[in-house]
Amino acid sequence: MNRDPAQSLATALGASGARITRQRRVVLDVLDHAPAHLNAREVLRRAREADPGIDRATVYRTLLLLKRAGLIDELDLLHMEGEQHYYERRGESDHVHICCVACGRVEELDTHLVADLIVTIRQTTGFEADSVRIEVKARCPDCISPPA
Ligand SMILES: [Zn+2]
Ligand SMILES: [Zn+2]
Repeated sequence: MNRDPAQSLATALGASGARITRQRRVVLDVLDHAPAHLNAREVLRRAREADPGIDRATVYRTLLLLKRAGLIDELDLLHMEGEQHYYERRGESDHVHICCVACGRVEELDTHLVADLIVTIRQTTGFEADSVRIEVKARCPDCISPPA
């Protein structure tokens, strides 16, 4: 399910019926302006810069609400950093995450293959895919041939 990426998360989450407290709004602002793929610890750190009173429970609770509303995706990025999970806004289209197992660099790839896969799934199984997550374990160009 795709959403208008120009809409703020606070607006989108409010529309889903959730109460937007002042502290939740801070967390939502962090995610609105985040680079892709923040883990919960990093979300908490950034939120505390804006409001030192924000605690871990507020961050986790807000992430859970967003996940249930389908507004963010939770990624494990192949558990390269242990059990951490990462969060990103759900964008206009599903993309592929390519993760370098040597240095941890993550690239995003937008490709029509994801949309094609959704069609193939519908045609062959009758299932209607809500979202597709593809995470590729790889080695980036720098790690294939390290600089001399
Ligand atoms: Zn991503
Ligand atoms: Zn690498």
